[in-house]
Amino acid sequence: MLRFANLIGLSVLAAAPALAQEVNLYSARHYDSDLRIYENFTAETGIRVNVIEGSDQQLLQRLQTEGNNSPADLFITVDGGRLHQAVEAGVFQPIDSAILEARVPDAFQHPDNLWFGLSSRARVIFTRSDEERPDWLDDYEDLADPRLEGEICIRSSSNIYNVSMMAEMIDVMGAEAAQDWAQGVANNLARPPQGGDRDQLRALAAGECSVAVSNTYYWGALAASENPEDAAVAAAVTFFYPNQGNRGAHVNISGAGVTAHAPNRDNAIKFLEYLVSDEAQQIFADSNNEFPIVPGVEIHGPVAPFTEFLSSGVNVSVYGLNASQATDIFDRVGFP
Ligand code: FE
Repeated sequence: MLRFANLIGLSVLAAAPALAQEVNLYSARHYDSDLRIYENFTAETGIRVNVIEGSDQQLLQRLQTEGNNSPADLFITVDGGRLHQAVEAGVFQPIDSAILEARVPDAFQHPDNLWFGLSSRARVIFTRSDEERPDWLDDYEDLADPRLEGEICIRSSSNIYNVSMMAEMIDVMGAEAAQDWAQGVANNLARPPQGGDRDQLRALAAGECSVAVSNTYYWGALAASENPEDAAVAAAVTFFYPNQGNRGAHVNISGAGVTAHAPNRDNAIKFLEYLVSDEAQQIFADSNNEFPIVPGVEIHGPVAPFTEFLSSGVNVSVYGLNASQATDIFDRVGFP
């Protein structure tokens, strides 16, 4: 795998056609198992995969700075809100692929095909394993119930996962009701938000709250951990999918788009098509305890028994479109 220094040379090579078949990837995901996917793709197609890893913001900024000189063919990142930021920055081009259209559900692809989802995760409600869940606690709406006063652990509203969840609430409830909901949840916080999703699960296990909100894969990571303390946290908490009696749970994605100036556009599309194959889907999802984007692909690990649930079907692009309104509402109600 080539790193930064080599890739600079590649942008020169790319100008001379057909020297070598390759595809250049900017990825905000970093899992060792992704390497296996790249190797399998190269073995199948002869196309070499060059990867630059970085944070989402670093890579997006770099894409913008490089403009039409960018060697990048594909940008992979996490959360519909971040994919939307990349769309707004103009770094993607629309792509036409019958395979991607057929394999990726509509809710998980950009309406103009500027990006496609590759794996998914749900943002769900956790309770303690040793406590019975109240029979009225079923939906996200119930998090605003005054009976949960002082009982909820959730990370800060500035985090993109909460912004995207709020964006969906605006879509399904309307802005006014969504604001009332945010106010209700803010009133119910057990403590000022601190830490990430894992920390909410730790606090729940420790008895600091009776309800927590987290993405499913963080629980999967704790459950799969070789650290006995993490495994104990995973055992001490349990989750349920909200809104199963109505619209379904809030789901977000990891996804990728072909960059606007991709020097190896055809290879980039081939690579995306490979990523939605059964083989790649399984490795891609398992690496982060996520769910495959393609229905019916089998996965392993702690979240494998929990793949059957109703998801809301709201197009993920809505999360980005409603993001600034979501942030405004959080600010207005004083959600920390
Ligand atoms: Fe995360």
